[in-house]
Amino acid sequence: MSEKTTQLHAAQKIMDEIYARLNVSDDIRCRLHQPRRIHQAGLPVRMDNGSLKVFPAWRVQYDDTRGPGKGGIRFHPDVCEDEVTTLSFWMTLKCAVVDIPFGGAKGGVQVDPKALSRLELERLSRSYIRAFFDVIGADRDIPAPDVNTNEKVMGWMADEYAEIARRQVPAIITGKPIGLGGSQGRTAATGRGALHVLDAWRVREDLKPEEITVAVQGFGNAGYHFARLAKEAGYKIVAISDSQGGIYLKEGLEPSPIWDHKNKTRKLSGMVYCDDSVCSVDNVESIGTEELLGLEVDVLVLAALENAITGENVKNVQAKVILEIANGPITPAADAQLLERDIVVIPDVLANAGGVIVSYLEWVQNRTGDYWSEEIVNERLATRIVNAATQCFQRAHREDVSLRVSAYLQGMELLAVAMEGRGTQRYFEGE
Ligand code: NAD
Repeated sequence: MSEKTTQLHAAQKIMDEIYARLNVSDDIRCRLHQPRRIHQAGLPVRMDNGSLKVFPAWRVQYDDTRGPGKGGIRFHPDVCEDEVTTLSFWMTLKCAVVDIPFGGAKGGVQVDPKALSRLELERLSRSYIRAFFDVIGADRDIPAPDVNTNEKVMGWMADEYAEIARRQVPAIITGKPIGLGGSQGRTAATGRGALHVLDAWRVREDLKPEEITVAVQGFGNAGYHFARLAKEAGYKIVAISDSQGGIYLKEGLEPSPIWDHKNKTRKLSGMVYCDDSVCSVDNVESIGTEELLGLEVDVLVLAALENAITGENVKNVQAKVILEIANGPITPAADAQLLERDIVVIPDVLANAGGVIVSYLEWVQNRTGDYWSEEIVNERLATRIVNAATQCFQRAHREDVSLRVSAYLQGMELLAVAMEGRGTQRYFEGE
């Protein structure tokens, strides 16, 4: 079995340590051992040339004890049931770690979206909602964007849901365009939240942002906003990569013009230092995606996909801290080696929770009809995620465990309270 297909199993192996430390009821192990529901569909899509293609798609609802399911929809050629299930398991924990009233779910379509025209992409997005209409809902399971899906896709999906339901249901999906009931601050929320978490770590270490060099793997929605905000806060972003390659500048890169350039050309290159048309391409070194992972930096940010650091390439890592913005970017084998080498890993379930926190705020705004300014949204995001990060760091220190174990303990405690509230074996045995 590959490292990838054992991710859910590996996540549950960590859970054994968590259950033992918390001494939770066996009922909880049983409930969390497998997802509540796995829905699968084939999505028929009429292509521009008249042919028909059917794309495999999933919606997995892992657990809804603490509230309706919540989780993004991913469009990627490698999407499979195991991946979507693992991601839905992490969503369950993540929502509990930052204490928002949602369970965990996830969706995915096995497709290369870059090979589709805009119209084909729209048909595919609408087809997803037609397939899963009966199992999602504002009180049931609320999708959101993930890899290769964005607010445009969420807008099509919200519109399709409204067409079928014959009424507007904005709370059915989050990450929508502002005009369709989206929240201020949602697009940058994951990157912003990750920066709050890194800041909380930095303050504990008594460091200044200017003293910290950062390399960012993955320059998509999450990685870009993180890099932009970190640069504004004073961190030195020395390297950035996307799926096609990377760039390095010892003196520090400017994320915003690189982003603008990438969106124009769809690739990263040195020709990015355009400030009012004054281009300075000097000193920008092109590097490979693997090379970025082995740079001698203070912080390595993983904001691409799963399994970026594996048992194979972990030996190359020289960073002091790894910030997991992607879900599951470090395989369990690599994680164990990083722990041994005292490389701090700030785990995904905490570091990337900013997105789901603002999704929750969007859902609240949709349900109350009271819409807030970006300032208020950002403040509420900061309060929640800094609080969760502080608790996680303090607990790790107090109990002498890794940040990952600490975050899992934090999430599991809340999940256990909710599950025990329904009655467990201990209750029925009169213990
Ligand atoms: P995205 O599709 O916008 O960006 C992904 C980026 O990773 C792209 O720039 C792509 O080129 C790059 N990439 C892919 N393979 C790479 C490789 N081998 N080396 C370097 N770069 C590579 O996706 P996103 O929304 O930014 O999500 C990124 C990660 O963050 C995912 O794991 C996602 O699950 C996680 N995440 C995202 C959000 C969110 O709100 N966007 C929230 C929580 C978690």
